[in-house]
Amino acid sequence: MTNSKQAKVCVVGSCSMDLVVTSSRRPGAGETVMGESFKTVPGGKGANQAVAAARLGAEVIMIGRVGDDHLGETILNNFKENHVSVEYVKPVTDMESGTAHITLAEGDNSIIVVPAANNEVTPDYVQQAAEAIRSSDIVLIQQEIPAETVAVVSQICVDANVPLLLNPAPARAIDADVLKHAAYITPNEHEASVIFEDMSLQEALRHYPNRLLVTEGSNGVRYYNGEEEAVVPTFKVEAVDTTGAGDTFNAALAVALAEGQSLADSIRFANRAASLSVTKFGAQGGMPTRAEVEAALS
Ligand code: ADP
Repeated sequence: MTNSKQAKVCVVGSCSMDLVVTSSRRPGAGETVMGESFKTVPGGKGANQAVAAARLGAEVIMIGRVGDDHLGETILNNFKENHVSVEYVKPVTDMESGTAHITLAEGDNSIIVVPAANNEVTPDYVQQAAEAIRSSDIVLIQQEIPAETVAVVSQICVDANVPLLLNPAPARAIDADVLKHAAYITPNEHEASVIFEDMSLQEALRHYPNRLLVTEGSNGVRYYNGEEEAVVPTFKVEAVDTTGAGDTFNAALAVALAEGQSLADSIRFANRAASLSVTKFGAQGGMPTRAEVEAALS
């Protein structure tokens, strides 16, 4: 695998802090229980994908928002430590950073997400960063920001002839124009069933040949290559924590495509990166470096 051209990747999306509590059980209404541990971990699909792309050797510009609180400072520092440009991650005055309140109890997790500053990634805000979008090799976007913003970014990309990789997570209905504008659409199986609820998966795949890539966890990736439905198998690993597998997959796919690799090679590269990520704990904690992916592929 060659890395002759450094990819310029622009990520438009969410930044947040995961506030993770472990407890032997979760409290009922009106109840207080004593927890066992607490930690804070930077997250948000946008931020995760930006960090993953930077570890894989891309020049990454993040377009997003944090609050003007201490969590926002920590999120910005985490970007800087991971060599992600934060010129377009502007703090929102008098607002909190996005947070995910995660309780790990009784072998399961429950999560409350408060988007806060992520709701301020508005159409106007991305218009101010349009030059960063236009000058990128590829733009990566998810759905933890307002739908109108995703629509505006898709239009900027089409007008500037910059490929848009739409990772439609979490699941929500998507404007037909946005699906038309996206160069690649990468739902997992659940997200695909929500987006294409009025057709079968086979029909949807054929409708978007070489564009709709459905990730199927340990099975790999399914798409229609213009002749037949193909599954690109992922790599067999000892899975420890699959949090962030999709984020690593999307970042790696974007980097490989931006470097000019073929779609099939890009999917293989992304499967390799994502399969490595599930062998370690945490979303960003498990994201591999370029050297680790290349060593595993050779
Ligand atoms: P999401 O995390 O968004 O739900 P998936 O579970 O489909 O997405 O995983 C995304 C990609 O991560 C897969 O296509 C595959 O490349 C990789 N992956 C996920 N789970 C595993 C696993 N257990 N073993 C190997 N690769 C995996």
